[in-house]
Amino acid sequence: MTTSLAGRWEAVMMPNYGTPPLAVASGKGVWLFDPDGNAYLDLVGGIAVSALGHAHPAIVRAVSEQVAKVAHTSNLYLHEPGVALAERLVGLLGLPARVFFANSGAEANECAIKLSRRHGARDGRTEIVAAVNGFHGRTLGSLSITGNPAKRTPFEPLPGPVTFVEYGDADALHRAVGPRTAALFLEPGLGEGGVVPAPVGYLRAARERCDQVGALLVLDEVQSGIGRTGHWFAGLAEGVRPDVLTLAKGLGGGLPIGACLGVGAAGELFAPGDHGSTFGGNPVSCAAALAVIDTIEAEHLLDSVKRVGEHLAHGLDALSGPLVAGNRGVGLWRAVALTTDAAGAVEAAARARGLLVNAVKPNAIRLAPPLILTEADVDDALPRLQAALDEVG
Ligand SMILES: *Cc1c(COP(=O)(O)O)cnc(C)c1O
Repeated sequence: MTTSLAGRWEAVMMPNYGTPPLAVASGKGVWLFDPDGNAYLDLVGGIAVSALGHAHPAIVRAVSEQVAKVAHTSNLYLHEPGVALAERLVGLLGLPARVFFANSGAEANECAIKLSRRHGARDGRTEIVAAVNGFHGRTLGSLSITGNPAKRTPFEPLPGPVTFVEYGDADALHRAVGPRTAALFLEPGLGEGGVVPAPVGYLRAARERCDQVGALLVLDEVQSGIGRTGHWFAGLAEGVRPDVLTLAKGLGGGLPIGACLGVGAAGELFAPGDHGSTFGGNPVSCAAALAVIDTIEAEHLLDSVKRVGEHLAHGLDALSGPLVAGNRGVGLWRAVALTTDAAGAVEAAARARGLLVNAVKPNAIRLAPPLILTEADVDDALPRLQAALDEVG
């Protein structure tokens, strides 16, 4: 059935994605099912999105109840889930902050870029510094700060000026961030860049340099935030306070929502009319996000992510064979580094064994499973991954 759907897909969809190799009909917990009823243990989680797995009762309930009341209000009217979610996020951050809701990570970063323009306007700063191999989204603004020439070059001219620095090099960052810098955008660990954690002290050095020169530190936690690393926010776990924090992916547990949080003065930069979104912060997505946060708390999932993440790391350490170069990552956010560009083949071989993993780079396999993953799930997954590696290697 995947084959016939793929044929229809190819006839009508723009060719910006390769044709997906698998159709998904339903899911439950950490499992996905194709239209023929084959089961797949999902270590991709919709690219770090499905925080509570699939069809989690708390999300089903929250979304069903809200959509039965009112699905959309626009931002012309107040609604309880939106205000409650903003209060919740500010509470988790533990800093005075204000929230703007968008629908995606790119849009959350667009808000952050516009905040940096507002911040820089005071003394004529327009420059943004961002990281080589960093990823912030596909809109022109978020693409302009994405350090991947293959994604950027076809769409130039892009907004600027933007300076790119080697990720993890605190000296390069110190040189690039100066009095003309409006904002420094960093992920607290490259996500699309291959799940590369920030070196110890790097985010702290970024904080210090931004304080020295008066630039905003924008932490893009679209992938790392909301429990992925075993902490609500990966940057704060390192003791680093952002001026602006962006969230999306895991926040809605599968419903589309992004958030941009401005901390302290950065939360006061917009004047009425400066920014907006028709769908941003719609009550259904906000209800889902509240369910995600409540469930992470009620089921102690941050502790679970740390514990199961360690178990996963030990399992990855034990992978063997000529293809395996090592592994890296934190919590339930990990990558297996390969010795050759075989990630696509390993992904396919794992899929044939009922295991979904993601070839995030030609030589790296990303694991970003639902935060509800258990040790038993890990023990189920790893032999399949080893078998896939053995087949390809
Ligand atoms: C995925 C991602 C984005 C873009 O999010 P979209 O919802 O696809 O727009 C931005 N930043 C980071 C760090 C991401 O991982």
